[in-house]
Amino acid sequence: MGVPFADLDVTHRELRADIDRAIAGVIDSGKFILGPAVASFETALAAATDQSHAVGVSSGSDALLVALMALGVGASDEVVTTPFTFFSTAGAIARLGARPVFVDIDYNSFNLDPAAVESAIGDKTRAVIPVHLFGRLASVPYAGRVPVVEDAAQSIGAGDVGGTCSTLSFFPSKNLGGMGDGGAVLTRDADFADRVRLLRAHGARPKYIHKVVGGNFRLDALQAAILEVKLAHLATATKRRQAAASRYRELFATADLDGVVLPEPSPEHVYNQFVVRVPRRDELRAFLQDRGIATALYYPEPLHLQECFADLGYRPGSLPVAEAACREVVALPIFPSIRAEQQEQVVGAVTEFLRG
Ligand SMILES: *Cc1c(COP(=O)(O)O)cnc(C)c1O
Repeated sequence: MGVPFADLDVTHRELRADIDRAIAGVIDSGKFILGPAVASFETALAAATDQSHAVGVSSGSDALLVALMALGVGASDEVVTTPFTFFSTAGAIARLGARPVFVDIDYNSFNLDPAAVESAIGDKTRAVIPVHLFGRLASVPYAGRVPVVEDAAQSIGAGDVGGTCSTLSFFPSKNLGGMGDGGAVLTRDADFADRVRLLRAHGARPKYIHKVVGGNFRLDALQAAILEVKLAHLATATKRRQAAASRYRELFATADLDGVVLPEPSPEHVYNQFVVRVPRRDELRAFLQDRGIATALYYPEPLHLQECFADLGYRPGSLPVAEAACREVVALPIFPSIRAEQQEQVVGAVTEFLRG
């Protein structure tokens, strides 16, 4: 028995013939860098996400980096962001010599607290990076007054909130996962898209004539071909994730457990993760693990307390809501092919732990 944390095997078995054909097509074309496979995927991705432009890049981390480069972020700039996210959200800021300004999150959504963002915006603020964490859209009332890079690595399919651009990751565990690294920058601004394209290939236009210093942020043709196959099934996979989330809600409502806080419902939520707050979190994880139920921790340590950011001067207690979240959250298994019995097993084991 037991319940895995995710199950990519099922998806890849269902799509295997199409994926094999797509890979063979790239091999036969002999075009492995950008080329028609990447262009075709970009067109399909822009249409599927209701954007005007999609630029495929090498990873979600590089998508953030190149988006900030396109905004001209550099030394002496500040970029406001959340401490409760994957590292690269803040890493991209620091890699450009700019200063990450961490502000606290909202208790219910786990996303940046918009009021805290407003009070952190100052003369040096060059951009804000809200993260649509776990697949739930952040509230971004300040978009329009300051450039906003939406970190949508976990929220493909949920839409956008009017930022300058959104960045995606195709890391295998994301809702649209490749078979390796990949990412994209989405935007409705043609000039911004053009700038990202320029920066993606060393700022060269034409080849060997460099207008600006960019990098190698290109998406592989093979990944693009695989991703285009999987993109056609994303909407169905998202509906299955949302149905699984509803089933968890029903099961937990029936179990009626004190101290378990479910993710705040939101119609656009695409549930890359189903993250709950629980009492005695670490003991609960061990209890579930003994029963073969896999869980994960997003995230055990907030970014403002990481060693690499020690010189920014944050202390334990600086951002208490994010720090508490790091102690209280656990991600339960959720994936498109999860079965009702598996979810019953998860909730049954949580119930046994908290009642026993
Ligand atoms: C996964 C992720 C990234 C980074 O994506 P990679 O493709 O792994 O570089 C950035 N931000 C968030 C919130 C993520 O979840």
